[in-house]
This record gives sequence, C-alpha cells and structure tokens, in this order.
Amino acid sequence: MNDCLFCKIIKGEIPSSKVYEDDTVYAFNDIEPQAPVHILIIPKEHISSAAEINADNSKLVAHIFEVAAKIAEDKGLADGFRIVTNCGDSAGQSVKHLHFHMLAGRDFTWPPG
Ligand code: AMP
Ligand code: ZN
Repeated sequence: MNDCLFCKIIKGEIPSSKVYEDDTVYAFNDIEPQAPVHILIIPKEHISSAAEINADNSKLVAHIFEVAAKIAEDKGLADGFRIVTNCGDSAGQSVKHLHFHMLAGRDFTWPPG
C-alpha cells in the first residue's frame, strides 16, 4: 500500500516521533494528542483495520499488547491507560492501517462518545 500514511511513517518517508520499535511493531506519538500521553502502536505489516485480524496475523496483535504493557511500565502509567482502535467509518477510523491508540495522563469517561 504505497499511499498508506502509516506505511510511509514506518519506512521513514514521513517523520514521526518514535516511542518504540522492533521487527514487527512501531509506536509513535500522535500528531494531534487527545491526552497528555497519546501513542499510536501499529504493526509494520499493512493490515487495514481490526476487521482484518485473522488466524494468520493475530499473534502480531497479541505482541502489540505486550508492547503496550512495556510502554506503560517504561512511561510509569500505573494510574491507568486506555487502548482504543477505531474500525471503519462510523467508528471514526481515518487512517486505514490498523493502529491502537494508547491514551493516558488524564481521566477518561465511559462509555466513550
Ligand atoms: P483514527 O482516526 O482512529 O484512524 O486515528 C488516526 C490517528 O492518526 C489520529 O489520532 C491522528 O491524529 C493521527 N495522525 C495522523 N497523521 C499523523 C502523523 N503524520 N503522525 C502522527 N499521527 C498522525
Ligand atoms: Zn499501511
């Protein structure tokens, strides 16, 4: 997907503020933060959304959650954090590359809007 914004960020073609990287996962600060901590955690493999998670790629998603726990520990987010993925237009997904928003540093309401 040459026209995918997050694939371009992974390749370094668009700058980003890196938080974490390994062979399969990349995490960076959201450009328009909705909380004091707002990190996007994405697979390096292009997966369009949570609707495309399947038996072949779900290990990658499990790994993303391991990375999230590591980031929480590294950044001292013991007070709590929220992980959100928007899937599809009605959920407000604007970038069609699977990403998990990791938000922290303030209180969050439930249910979300
Ligand atoms: P969503 O609306 O759930 O698809 O989330 C996409 C997120 O990507 C939004 O929170 C945007 O602020 C964020 N975003 C868009 N462009 C960039 C960029 N160049 N660098 C970092 N975050 C971005
Ligand atoms: Zn992509």
